[in-house]
Amino acid sequence: MDASTSCPPASGSELLQAQRAFFRSGATRPVAFRRDALVRLRAALVGAEAEVLAALQADLGRPPAEAYASEVGFVLGEIDFALRHLARWARPRKERTPPLLFPATSWIHPEPYGCTLIVGPWNYPVQLLLVPLLGAIAAGNCAVLKPSELAPRTAEVLARVVATAFPPGHVAVVQGGVDAVQELLAQRFDSIFFTGGARVGRIVMQAAARFLTPVTLELGGKSPCIVDASADLDVAARRIAWGKFMNAGQTCVAPDFVLVHASVRAQLVERLAATVRAFYGDAPRGSPDFGRIVNTAHFDRLAALLGRGRAAVGGDSDRAERYIAPTVLDGVEWTDPVMQDEIFGPILPVLEFATLDAAIARVQAMERPLALYVFAGERAVQDRVLRELPSGGACVNDTVAQLLNPRLPFGGVGDSGLGGYHGRHSFETFSHMRSVVRRGTWFDLAAKYPPYRMPLAVL
Ligand code: NAD
Repeated sequence: MDASTSCPPASGSELLQAQRAFFRSGATRPVAFRRDALVRLRAALVGAEAEVLAALQADLGRPPAEAYASEVGFVLGEIDFALRHLARWARPRKERTPPLLFPATSWIHPEPYGCTLIVGPWNYPVQLLLVPLLGAIAAGNCAVLKPSELAPRTAEVLARVVATAFPPGHVAVVQGGVDAVQELLAQRFDSIFFTGGARVGRIVMQAAARFLTPVTLELGGKSPCIVDASADLDVAARRIAWGKFMNAGQTCVAPDFVLVHASVRAQLVERLAATVRAFYGDAPRGSPDFGRIVNTAHFDRLAALLGRGRAAVGGDSDRAERYIAPTVLDGVEWTDPVMQDEIFGPILPVLEFATLDAAIARVQAMERPLALYVFAGERAVQDRVLRELPSGGACVNDTVAQLLNPRLPFGGVGDSGLGGYHGRHSFETFSHMRSVVRRGTWFDLAAKYPPYRMPLAVL
């Protein structure tokens, strides 16, 4: 089938049929085809860069420099990394063969699953749709993408970028909200990659169970940031504020709350407040470097969280602009609403601990988070926190940095997700590692067959 001849089919099922026929034609198998697909995606994204940045500004008030680094630039970096390494990733890997199988050779062959469904969220709408996509096509799959309806201008630009780079029989975008996802989930895809909240993650996994479709779930949660008394507080304040307030706190790996040793709480709060002023000025609303909340429903949810605690900086909001000031909340209790669910906005509660034992016990009682941050000068404290607190990823003396190394898998554990991607891990997430043994026929060990004369283990 020539994928380039088909118009976008009307329904998810027609689209899937067309993609399945294209996949079965074998066209996506050669590494040269996959490399070419990555190059075309790169060119289409570079060509639409200005449009993408304008759409991110319209949907999320995203400052262009931040939007470039975290969206367009990030995707281009992952494409370039994949282009450099794809030939090696895709190569069958020879393995040693036990004597029992002599004469034989054994290898692991990474095989594409076939047709994949990728469902994205709104907060980094470009990166979180296109980085999974590049893994899917690098591994030789076809893909249907469903961008979030909550970042509609970006979704439109993404649909154009994808249509420029690919025929719909290879990669296509389906627009829409819950109904569109439900319709797609009713189809039999060969793998599903979902990024979003745990509630919808469960819906996706249930739908996938019907066909036993493998799923990758990239979810969120409350990522703790523990600050020990031995930490460098100036550096900690800068790195925490940077990770928290970029994209107005709407980052899945943002430090959700700070848990600081009581002896340095006041100093840290003061430095965090000073850092916010240094980053965004005395009136962050006018700062070109501070974003907006995605919609009024999320604005209302966040504004309601400002009622408790004492704002060391920020605390104000403006519904008409969907603006929530970058806020550091001191004097927060564990029972306050802000500590019940993932905040996903520019509000940073600070709680204190008396002993590391108590801090660890608190965090152990929570769901396993997507990210765990610890700021400490003492290596023993760093190691103990890493050892005793499981999480999707972790970072010592910084935030967000764990996902900036393409050699590290990015993903959650437990409630924060299932599976991982980035770099080689994206390729592997969209591949089935097929075991193959090729046996020779010139020798056939008779003792292997009944009637048995000795235990096979002896052989
Ligand atoms: P969401 O779960 O509401 O939506 C994600 C996608 O699911 C959207 O495309 C939406 O159309 C679809 N969807 C929504 N409701 C659905 C339903 N009932 N049935 C089927 N599909 C449905 O998530 P969101 O609000 O877009 O994103 C915020 C969440 O995503 C946060 O929890 C955040 O931590 C998480 N997140 C995780 C990562 C990560 O990489 N792990 C990255 C970004 C965001």
